[in-house]
Amino acid sequence: MAVPLRRDLLVGQRLSIVQDLRFCLKPRCPVCRKGRLFQSRSITVVKTCADCGADLGAHDIGDGASVFLIFFFGITIIPLAWAFENLAHPPLWLHGVLWLTVMLGAMALLLPVVKAYIILLEWRHRKG
Ligand SMILES: [Zn+2]
Repeated sequence: MAVPLRRDLLVGQRLSIVQDLRFCLKPRCPVCRKGRLFQSRSITVVKTCADCGADLGAHDIGDGASVFLIFFFGITIIPLAWAFENLAHPPLWLHGVLWLTVMLGAMALLLPVVKAYIILLEWRHRKG
C-alpha cells in the first residue's frame, strides 16, 4: 500500500531528482532546507531544526539505511570478490584487506546519503 505524496508540504520546493540528489549530498532540514539534518560529525538526526524549529527527531529510521547498504554490497561486492579470486588468485589476506577497505569506505560515503534520502522520502509521504 503506497502512502500518497504530501504536496502541501512541498510549498516552495520542486520535485526533481537533481534537488533530491543535492539534498542527499548535503543533508539539510527537509522543511526549510537550511538547518542541519545530522548532528556534527555524526549521522544522528537532530531533534529540532535550528532554523525553522521543525521536529526532526521523529524521523528516526533506525537501521534502515544500513540494511539497504548491506543488501546492496551483498549483490555488488561479493561478485567482484569472486571474479577477482578467479582472475588473479590473490592470497586470502589480500581479499580481507581489500574488500574490508572497500566496504568500510563505501559505507562511510554512502550511509549519510542513503539515510538522508530515506528521511526525505519519509517526510514527503508521512501521515498527518
Ligand atoms: Zn528547518
